[in-house]
Amino acid sequence: MGRAFVYVILGGGVAAGYAALEFVKKGVSHGELCIISEEAVVPYERPALSKGFLLPEDPARLPSFHTCVGSNEERLTPKWYKENGIELVIGTRVKSADVRRKTLLTATGETISYQILIIATGARALKLEEFGVTGSDAENVCYLRDLADATRLVNVMQCCSGGDAVVIGGGYIGMECAASLVINKINVTMVFPEAHCMARLFTSKIASYYEDFYKSKGVKFIKGTVLSSFDFNPVGKVTAVNLRDGSRLPADMVVVGIGIRPNTSLFEGQLTLEKGGIKVNGRLQSSNSSVYAVGDVATFPVKLFGETRRLEHVDSARKSAKHVVAAIMEPDKIGEFDYLPFFYSRVFTLSWQFYGDGVGEVVHFGDFSGNTFGAYWVSKGHLIGSFLEGGTKEEYEAIAKATRMMPAIEDLAELERQGLGFALTA
Ligand code: FAD
Repeated sequence: MGRAFVYVILGGGVAAGYAALEFVKKGVSHGELCIISEEAVVPYERPALSKGFLLPEDPARLPSFHTCVGSNEERLTPKWYKENGIELVIGTRVKSADVRRKTLLTATGETISYQILIIATGARALKLEEFGVTGSDAENVCYLRDLADATRLVNVMQCCSGGDAVVIGGGYIGMECAASLVINKINVTMVFPEAHCMARLFTSKIASYYEDFYKSKGVKFIKGTVLSSFDFNPVGKVTAVNLRDGSRLPADMVVVGIGIRPNTSLFEGQLTLEKGGIKVNGRLQSSNSSVYAVGDVATFPVKLFGETRRLEHVDSARKSAKHVVAAIMEPDKIGEFDYLPFFYSRVFTLSWQFYGDGVGEVVHFGDFSGNTFGAYWVSKGHLIGSFLEGGTKEEYEAIAKATRMMPAIEDLAELERQGLGFALTA
């Protein structure tokens, strides 16, 4: 049994939703486009899962956060896909791909063939088992990547009100989940091996601000060590977390956010991989000319930095999806993808945005005891990265614009003195 389409998007996450909207805007015909996704719901804004979805009062629930509401575009409900003649094969995993024959084989035994394939398989959460710890399939240990995980996390949280949670990992999933747990009246201890939270992005000065804020909400931090094992009760629930430094933390629940791995396995040995993702060119085209890749799974050239990157951010998924459709449907009109990396997070009443690259010398600015502060990164004499907490829309736009221009910086002390004013007048 088999079906054939002109365009197939493999994966039904953020990138798939934004690509679908773009296909319709560019006039795709009914019956030409198919989306295959393991998830049983149509594409949604994944960042909502660690934010509005976890709130105890008036939580976000589908259909309210289907794509493409994150960019103030139309909300694409199942009805929208139907009305636009897009075939949805959801709740269905693709178990193998043959790029030479241009076919995908689903777990239900169907062969779906394509003329053009867009790989948008995103990434999966890394499991503790991959680091030699066993038992993370216990019912009160939660990961957070998809709607099923988030639904489970909500159920576990509801059973633990007033109890103790241990959050493993100090990245954005750990930080956002810790904030949500506190809001749900659960006591939180965060454990991570680095010297401070968000170690890949924050300077120690920026991290101190957030850690102090979290401490004021009752969160405890245990840094410089990792989990070594769990204790279980007779029915297999985790009761405590043992750390490599010898300490033992009683736990009613555990949330693990220790990173992700891109879903490339279907294409290993068939497409060129780089930096853990599927290598694509400036048109987001892989080493096979009929196959494109976007979002978390794609390693693409970032023109501004003159090197390839694989990014794990929603804005990159949205914009690469939009670009790939233009590259496929209007190849003569579109240039190379020219992307300024952008990442944001929102926790408690705080909200920050980051643009560009966080390498080189750092200049902090603003009031670190108040609500608005930030940092610039300067490398080889040019401003290449900007961070701002508590900015207005205009201020965020200004740091984005200034970062894209990569202005020459001769005097770091002068940049520090001007602070946000530098971006606002750049
Ligand atoms: P995904 O959205 O992960 O979609 C991949 C899809 O492919 C999934 O539906 C999956 O089921 C499907 N799939 C995979 N393999 C197969 C297969 N073999 N067969 C069928 N289907 C398959 N980014 C930010 O910039 N800011 C944030 O605040 C932020 N918050 C986040 C919060 C959470 C909880 C998570 C998990 C991520 C967050 N992100 C955030 C990251 C952002 O959501 C991702 O960068 C984005 O979702 C990537 O989009 P994608 O389409 O590439 O992959």
